[in-house]
Amino acid sequence: MHSFRFPPVEMPPQAQALRMEVRQFLADEIEKGSFTPKPNCSSFGLFDQKFTKLCGERGYIGMTWPKKYGGGERSVLEHFVTMEEMLAAGAPIGGHGVADRQSGHQILRHGSERARQSLLPRIAAGECYFAIGMSEPDAGSDLAAVSTRGTRVDGGWSITGTKVWTSHSHRAHYLIALVRTAPKAEDRHAGLTQFIIDLSQPGLTLRPIYDLYGGHNFNEVVFDQYFVPDDMIIGEAGEGWKMVTGELALERSAPDRFLSTYQLLTESIRQIGAHPDDRSANEIGRFVAHLATLRRMSGSIAGMIERGDRPSVEAACVKDLGTAFEREIPDTFRHLLPGEPRIGGSDAYDEMIGTAILRAPSFTIRGGTREILRGMIARGLGLR
Ligand SMILES: Cc1cc2nc3c(=O)[nH]c(=O)nc-3n(C[C@H](O)[C@H](O)[C@H](O)COP(=O)(O)OP(=O)(O)OC[C@H]3O[C@@H](n4cnc5c(N)ncnc54)[C@H](O)[C@@H]3O)c2cc1C
Repeated sequence: MHSFRFPPVEMPPQAQALRMEVRQFLADEIEKGSFTPKPNCSSFGLFDQKFTKLCGERGYIGMTWPKKYGGGERSVLEHFVTMEEMLAAGAPIGGHGVADRQSGHQILRHGSERARQSLLPRIAAGECYFAIGMSEPDAGSDLAAVSTRGTRVDGGWSITGTKVWTSHSHRAHYLIALVRTAPKAEDRHAGLTQFIIDLSQPGLTLRPIYDLYGGHNFNEVVFDQYFVPDDMIIGEAGEGWKMVTGELALERSAPDRFLSTYQLLTESIRQIGAHPDDRSANEIGRFVAHLATLRRMSGSIAGMIERGDRPSVEAACVKDLGTAFEREIPDTFRHLLPGEPRIGGSDAYDEMIGTAILRAPSFTIRGGTREILRGMIARGLGLR
């Protein structure tokens, strides 16, 4: 049976110093007008090629990777503080966010030497963006049900099938797709493989999907005999499940799982002002206490990853608690402040809370729904 472990982590002096450096960099860039924080969007949803390139030049992408692949050989904790500062400032990291958080790590750990050499330096330089191709029309929570099929052909694989909800794939250069390469066996997790898909190649159709507030942020991707060369496999054929679950641990524990509405939280506290009534004071105190706890938990997981552990049950716990936290912020403050949430109109705060209300349901769905996470946690604790 698993018991939760969240050992406290001491931020080393280099990480503290880096936090101050990144904070100053972001303040300078806002001052120069390189980007304007958009409080009604999360950092991961904001694409800005120039800013991503600038982050590459400053060494803020692929920070933990070896220097020979363009990385900075810095610690996981240094990466953690950099991400916290970027997200808290509302910096537009959509271009590099996915590759920096997970795809680049997969390529580094399990990619071919050609994939490492050709892709990692471009990602680290802020010139190459990635998307995730796990979900399908009939395989979301039950990811092992994927039916996009890869068949062996001369020099590689031919892929046919449909992926869905692929965030930002119309802006990305590559996508990592989970594909069935052997028929379903008794072990339904066997026979799956991850491939690096070059989105500029023929054999692919992207169809936009519009979200609740009318934005085009994800697509359906249809593969029709799309050819992938052998050296664009991640790991061994048939080993995809192990890789994908390792990747989800990285995807679920990072600060982007509780900071999506951070800007709304700080703006709401500012709107309430220096003399909150008892109810507002209670709620602000509760949110601040929860935020401090989530930061400690997420930082603790960064410390465990640094030591080479894969704390996937703890990561599921951070995602479940963190996304409940970020969802509750718009719901609570709409009742504490006058005004009506709305899209459009002249009041910036009403617009901010209106957009957050429309975005909030997605927080507990993307990256694994809360029911699935709670099932994993229960299994980890030996309760099912
Ligand atoms: C904003 C956003 C961005 C996304 N980006 C990506 C992306 O870039 N790439 C990608 O591959 N996917 C992406 N997704 C897809 C996301 O991972 C899936 O939506 C999610 O895994 C749920 O799958 P589903 O939509 O098929 O829902 P379903 O699996 O059909 O689930 C429907 C409901 O049933 C519940 N449920 C299902 N199975 C069980 C069970 N066994 N026990 C209890 N309850 C259950 C679920 O919790 C959910 O409430 C994104 C989703 C969103 C909202």
